[in-house]
Parts: sequence; structure tokens; C-alpha cells
Amino acid sequence: FERMSRLKSFEMPTIVKHGVGVIKHTGEEVKKLGVNKVLLVTDPGVKKAGLIDPVVASLKEAQIEVVIFDRVEPNPSIYIVADGTNVYLDENCDGLVAVGGGSSMDTAKAIGVEVVHGEPVLEYEAAEGKKPLSKRIPPLTTIPTTAGTGSEVTQWAVITDPNRQFKFNVGGPLIAAHLTIIDPELHVSMPPHITAATGIDALSHAIECYTCHYAQPMTDAVALLAIEYVAKYLRRAVANGKDIEARYAMSHAAMLAGLSYGSESAGAAHAMAQTLGGIIPVAHGQCVAALLGPVMEYNWMGEPEKYARIAQAMGVNIHGMSVEEAAKAAVKAVYQLVRDVEIPTLEEQGVPADMIPRLAQEAYNDPQTIGNPRDI
Ligand code: NAD
Repeated sequence: FERMSRLKSFEMPTIVKHGVGVIKHTGEEVKKLGVNKVLLVTDPGVKKAGLIDPVVASLKEAQIEVVIFDRVEPNPSIYIVADGTNVYLDENCDGLVAVGGGSSMDTAKAIGVEVVHGEPVLEYEAAEGKKPLSKRIPPLTTIPTTAGTGSEVTQWAVITDPNRQFKFNVGGPLIAAHLTIIDPELHVSMPPHITAATGIDALSHAIECYTCHYAQPMTDAVALLAIEYVAKYLRRAVANGKDIEARYAMSHAAMLAGLSYGSESAGAAHAMAQTLGGIIPVAHGQCVAALLGPVMEYNWMGEPEKYARIAQAMGVNIHGMSVEEAAKAAVKAVYQLVRDVEIPTLEEQGVPADMIPRLAQEAYNDPQTIGNPRDI
């Protein structure tokens, strides 16, 4: 009753356009947002893979000027954001297009925050004593090239403050993209290790948001389909990057799992992964992949029925199992998937064991633990 009585909301400010080959419509769609000169935010790897070429061509065809900012790094810092803001203002841009993974999309969102508020994004960290966002960012189009973070539709940006070795969140409907164009053909060039890590990131959003205290029917619905798609298609996308059906399903899994963030919180795996990514530059998806299984092993008894449902969505035949057996089967299925897609362990990534007490303390203070289904 307590859960049903809590005021919950679901907002979806982003128009979603998707389909194989739809990138050629970018220009006409961005034009509808009333934009004439965009800052295209991307990273060197995405640029090298040729992924911005069709975007630039389509924008130019629609008479939209393009200024390229290609200096985004993984776990993007406040300094990269500030550089991008300067370029945006110097060039008198009136819109943003992000082409890349979560790092490029989050950088573009944070540039948007600085441009409209005239202050560093750090002032708008989702934390006590910081300011709430008060203005909508300039028209932003997100074009994801990974199938993981869901940043194309989420109301969050995750930015690193190197001075505190800390990844902080900025959030709310004011920073969500106005438009996203999801074309799985842009995912074909992703190497297997990035496909694997980002795919498990999507799975972790869906599982953590589905089981968190703030879950609601709307987010449950999208989370379950996202889980099903990852379980069915991630191995195929890793094994054969050109498998367009698998890429199509994974691009939807990431977007749907991103929408499940409408439940307001992830959980302990994200709290720990984000803490770790602020200290050591391990890719976000790899951090999450290492932590999701152990967190589920700890959490299942907080939401056994929902864990049993996850097992079903993962393709486990739970017929004849008790709820507890099915819940544990979900944990096992996730461990197996992470093993199958060959994600390195944290030890192999150079995370030293003596860092664990610091990680534990800082993750405990992360607000994402509030929604965790079992007390920590
Ligand atoms: P990323 O954007 O950091 O990209 C990782 C690497 O993949 C880069 O080197 C990039 O060049 C390469 N790459 C991307 N697409 C490619 C392609 N199609 N072909 C070849 N190479 C490609 O990775 P990510 O996992 O998408 O984003 C991680 C960031 O997103 C982290 O900072 C994380 O904290 C954040 N995040 C944000 C949200 C949100 O809601 N805003 C949610 C989860 C995570």
C-alpha cells in the first residue's frame, strides 16, 4: 500500500525515431527542431570509425551548418565539457547533435546545461546544496553508437570531477534530448568487447530499475522487454557484429532499459560502478558487468517474485521451481551471460583489492543505493 500511495511520475520528453538506415533522415529531423548551426559532439574513436560522416552529410543537405567537437573521452570530465561549451559559444551554435556512446551524449547534455545557465555544470550536480536546473538545454539530438547506457532517452548526464575522483549526476527532464535517432547500422563497427560491456550495462539498468523500491508498472514493462532482448541477442551481437537483427534488438534493449530509469533509481551495482569509474578509468560497462552478478546474489531475497520474473525473461524455464529457486536461477543466468561474452574481471582490469574499503564507503554514500531492494 505504501508503494502504491507514493506519487510517481513518468516523463518522456524525447521523440524517438528508429530503424535500420534511418540515419539519412537526420538533417530533415533536426531541421524540424528549428536548428541552423549545430555543435556535433563525438569522440575520436567514433569519428575514426566513420560514424559521423553520414550524419554530417545529412545535416549539410538540410542546410544545417556543422561544427565538430571530437575531443570527448570515456568518463568525460568537467574540463572537456567546458571546452565544448566554449566552442559552442564562440561559434554561435543553436543546437547540439551527439554521435557516440554515453560519454558523447552526456557531454552534449552537460554542454547544453552550461550554455543556458551560464555556469559550470558542477553547480548543477544532483546533490544537496547544489542548484536545481532551471532552463531547458538547446535542442539536442542524440545518435547512439553503442547499445548500453540509454542516455539517448534518459534524463541524466554522468560527468567526472577529476579533483574529487568522482562521477556525479546531473538530471531532470530539462536535460533530456529533444530527439533521438537510433540506427543499428551505426552499431555494426562496435568491437566485441565494447558490444559486450555496453550490452551488460543495458541489462543492469533494466534489472536494477525493475527491482528497485521506486519501480512502477510503466518502467516494469519496458525493463522486462529489455532483459528479454539482451538475454536473446547479446551473444549473437558479440559473436557477429554484422548480425543486424541482433543489433536492432540490442539498440532497442538499451533504449527501453534507459526508459526504465524513469523509476528514478538504479541500485547498488550502479552505485559501485560509478564510484569505481571515478577513481580508475575502467569502462563503465565493464565495472557494471563485474558487479551485477554479486549484487544480484545479495539482492534477490529483497524481491524474490521479481527476480523469478527476471529468470523467465532471461529464458529460464522456471516450471516446477519454487519462487526462491527461480530467483536464484536469474542470478545464475546473469553470471553465465557475463561469462559467455568474456568480460574481464576487475582484477584483470587492474583494480587492486586494497581499494575495496574506499569503494565500499563511497558507494554506500551514493544516492543510487536508496532504491536498492535490500538494505546495504
Ligand atoms: P563510451 O561512450 O565511453 O564509448 C566507449 C568507446 O567505444 C569509445 O572509445 C568509443 O570511441 C567507442 N565506440 C563507441 N561506439 C562505437 C562504434 N559504433 N564503433 C566503434 N567504436 C565505438 O561508452 P558507453 O558505455 O556508451 O558510455 C559510458 C558513459 O556513459 C559512462 O561515463 C557512464 O557513466 C555513462 N552513463 C550514462 C548514463 C545516462 O543515463 N546518461 C547511463 C549509464 C551510463
